[in-house]
Amino acid sequence: MPDRYLSFTRTAPGRFLTRRLGLPQPAALHRWSPDRPALDGPLLPLTAGPSALDLAPVLARTGPAVATRGPEGTAVDPAGGAARPAAVVLDATGVRDVDTLAGVHAALHPVVRSVVPSGRIVVLGAPLDPADHHQSAAQQALEGFTRSLGKEIGGGRTVNLVRLTDAGAAESTLRFLLSPRSAYVSGQVIDVLAAAGPVPPADPGRPLAGRTALVTGAARGIGAAVAETLARDGARVVVLDVPQAAQDARRLADRLGGTALTLDITAADAGERIAAELPGGLDVLVHNAGVTRDRRLVNMPAERWSSVLDVNLASVLRTTDALLAKGTLRPGGRIVATASIAGLAGNAGQTNYGASKAGIVGLVRSLAPRALAEHGVTVNAVAPGFIETRMTAAVPLFIREAGRRMNSLAQGGLPVDVAETTAWLADPASGAVNGQVVRVCGQSLLGA
Ligand code: NAD
Repeated sequence: MPDRYLSFTRTAPGRFLTRRLGLPQPAALHRWSPDRPALDGPLLPLTAGPSALDLAPVLARTGPAVATRGPEGTAVDPAGGAARPAAVVLDATGVRDVDTLAGVHAALHPVVRSVVPSGRIVVLGAPLDPADHHQSAAQQALEGFTRSLGKEIGGGRTVNLVRLTDAGAAESTLRFLLSPRSAYVSGQVIDVLAAAGPVPPADPGRPLAGRTALVTGAARGIGAAVAETLARDGARVVVLDVPQAAQDARRLADRLGGTALTLDITAADAGERIAAELPGGLDVLVHNAGVTRDRRLVNMPAERWSSVLDVNLASVLRTTDALLAKGTLRPGGRIVATASIAGLAGNAGQTNYGASKAGIVGLVRSLAPRALAEHGVTVNAVAPGFIETRMTAAVPLFIREAGRRMNSLAQGGLPVDVAETTAWLADPASGAVNGQVVRVCGQSLLGA
């Protein structure tokens, strides 16, 4: 179901009319492509308060050329050319009280207007210190600041907060947030605080080379995009879907040089069958299969409840347990589960779906530290907002339009946006990202 409003706003009369009427004007987002793999401009590093982070070597490897501050919000690159910054990284890890918090305003106020369309602002914060309520207040203030700036900045620009203690451990996260791959991720707070473990040397263009990834529900929609993106990054992919989708699954697997596995993930022995299919082990497990059976609770028969809970949550718990217990998921492995903003904010007509997706959040938060300590496997979730797929094409028109427009980017996301986020979490270099629920929702106004 194409977004006709979005297409209309890209025409001259559409631009004129929507501006005159004060209607949303969704920006054309800069997404990753082989022809345009990096942001269009330099990165401007700024600091608020004293910082102990050794950021410079890490920023130098993230992609954009690192610049220094020039006059009137410009960034001056090493060759002396002044340009508008495409990215700003504000190191606010040293903000400890309301006085040093003023440094955030002082640093960003003069440059925020110059950031190019589809540019990135990343604020770096420190973990909240439970023994210091002034530091906690000032660091928590960064969250409200980040989410508010994300809502007002416009032009396809994104604003995110990363809490970290070690710049090196956050390199994969910064590389993702400072690239076109994170086009639909805004207003997020991401903790990069787990013990990272050794990062194996990898080809940055193909970080998943030599790794095997299994994606459930991958015959179409978001799952198919995840399989494609993981294959682009070098993984050998296993495309799992139900028997009715076997043909699509096989076609995709053939195209990606992977294999198809026809299996209903709710089968009691699904974990055992996956393990039998992968005697060499598995590195990346993406729980993407999901269904909706919407009804208000008063009209919901038990079967609608149980089918959604079974596909979206119980099967995720069962297969995760089985694959961890059997050792199929190798050390250094990654589990990425799929939640939803409906599980965070709730949604009328979706008590079953909202419960199942909130359950994913509970699973991730509880299992993440244990899975890392006992198996060397990280566990994170993506929480998509409104993504243009067959699932959302079936949503009634009015609710569909609201879903598309009610976010800071004023448009729906694409399956590839969830896929890029999954690929970052699946990266061998993302070992310090654990127990996170990252919304891919363009900063949806629902529960954001
Ligand atoms: P989709 O309906 O287009 O695709 C879902 C895939 O899962 C299908 O190929 C389907 O055959 C497969 N599947 C369903 N039940 C299965 C089972 N028992 N065993 C194996 N495979 C099964 O959905 P989508 O929009 O691509 O959504 C993918 C995931 O993202 C789901 O978990 C969904 O809840 C979640 N999500 C989507 C959106 C969105 O806006 N599209 C928003 C939030 C969350």
